[in-house]
Amino acid sequence: MTTTDSTEPVWGRVLIAGGLDWATNGTKGRRQDDLDLSQPHILRSLSHVKVTKLLAGCGANYVGAIDINGVAHFIGKMPAYGPSANKGIVSYDTPVHISTKSVGLPAGTTWVGGGLGRAGIFLIDSKGDVWAAGNNVVGQLGLPLSPDVPRLTKVKGPWARSAKIIQVATGNTFTLFLTDAGQVYAAGSSEHGQLGNGSTSERIVKGNKLAWDVQTPPLQAALEDKKIVQIAAGSQHSLALDDYGNVYAWGYAGYARLGLGDQKDQGSAPVKSTAARPGMFNIAGKWKITGDGSSGSPYTTFKQLDELGGCKVTKTAVGGCTHFITTPLFGGKTQSIGWGQGALYGELGFGPNIGKSSTKPQAIQPLEGIDVVDIAGGLFCTLFLARPNDALSELDRFPVQVESATDCLVCHKDLPDDPLLECERCDEPYHPGCLDPPLADIPEGQWFCPKCEKEGNELGLNDEYFDEEEDAPYEEVPVVKRRAESETQNGGKKPRSE
Ligand SMILES: [Zn+2]
Ligand SMILES: [Zn+2]
Repeated sequence: MTTTDSTEPVWGRVLIAGGLDWATNGTKGRRQDDLDLSQPHILRSLSHVKVTKLLAGCGANYVGAIDINGVAHFIGKMPAYGPSANKGIVSYDTPVHISTKSVGLPAGTTWVGGGLGRAGIFLIDSKGDVWAAGNNVVGQLGLPLSPDVPRLTKVKGPWARSAKIIQVATGNTFTLFLTDAGQVYAAGSSEHGQLGNGSTSERIVKGNKLAWDVQTPPLQAALEDKKIVQIAAGSQHSLALDDYGNVYAWGYAGYARLGLGDQKDQGSAPVKSTAARPGMFNIAGKWKITGDGSSGSPYTTFKQLDELGGCKVTKTAVGGCTHFITTPLFGGKTQSIGWGQGALYGELGFGPNIGKSSTKPQAIQPLEGIDVVDIAGGLFCTLFLARPNDALSELDRFPVQVESATDCLVCHKDLPDDPLLECERCDEPYHPGCLDPPLADIPEGQWFCPKCEKEGNELGLNDEYFDEEEDAPYEEVPVVKRRAESETQNGGKKPRSE
């Protein structure tokens, strides 16, 4: 195991599995190509970056990562920041880098967290402010109503001036915000009571169209007397964990996903959910297609999965239809386990010889020996954060092949007795003795050429994003609170994340 400098935060390299064809992910006419990674690969474009935090969302067809400099990097179909020429799609090869400087924050501020929604992106800065961009048609960004917010804009919530936002949880049309004082705020659609503020305000307008209240700016969810330490959002429901280990649930209750014993939407206020065993994986609702736990017999309260036995859980993650845990093994190693029915693109990372979908939890074999410190599930792909070690160096990179020179980049010679050292990222060869300073030997473990090493340390830090579209203000709808009409979410169809 690699040890870390005590002053340096725990960092790792980004691995990715699943569907990287962002344009056609989730569509029927999906291209069959080589962009489905059935096992985790080192993401080459970020392989030289020291990442401290992964960003993904179970409804988001894009993923991101924050590095030790506090710069955020994204690939996929972004709701903002993507190149408009390419329908907002950012290739796995050319991530978008967003620094705090690019939104006008002073030097020394960093991104420390965020939330990726289906249509909205959130980043939290080191001062505790939250920034949002993307679709804001029902106020789900916590910003004054507008069809679209093209650039990260600070959310001015009703929380105290001294309060810091420490977590954001994104649903499909709403967002939860958690302050360091343990208070939860919510913004967006309250169609199913997912804001937890006592309002569903649902009323039939005509036919099967519904209308509901839009809350903006964010309202405080009804948990004022609790100290909440963690929040989570499904597509239309919300969960909060307090400092005593109690879980509160509210919002859409289809398949009894709130764990409250029935399928009645919980719109009036958050309700304490069933006691679950601490340190274990517990699940409620429908999580597979047939048998116990399917739509016919969902788990109406939070239950453990038999297959996981008494597995101690160190990390959990959920994606579109994927579930992951990490569990400690003897000798300080970690095992990564995944399951999920309906996974199509390899997002469980089991490898080419095992099915892409699994109702039963299984060890992710390609990650054996790899020190996975975090997992983040997206709608169609999965990110893993891995500490450098020998097993990681053996893992394939993606793209697997890149064009590189055959001769040393310094002396342009390929001397038969002189071994060449290849950069982990760009594959360009160098003689150890040609480097400045020269290396006596081929170093063990990961090695990056001077160019990649420098770029990895500074990626995005010097980028300016606002030069071309200076002060491009978004179009605000001049009403702070109003009724918005919209069709029933998802057109009556269940989204894949359900
Ligand atoms: Zn050379
Ligand atoms: Zn290189």
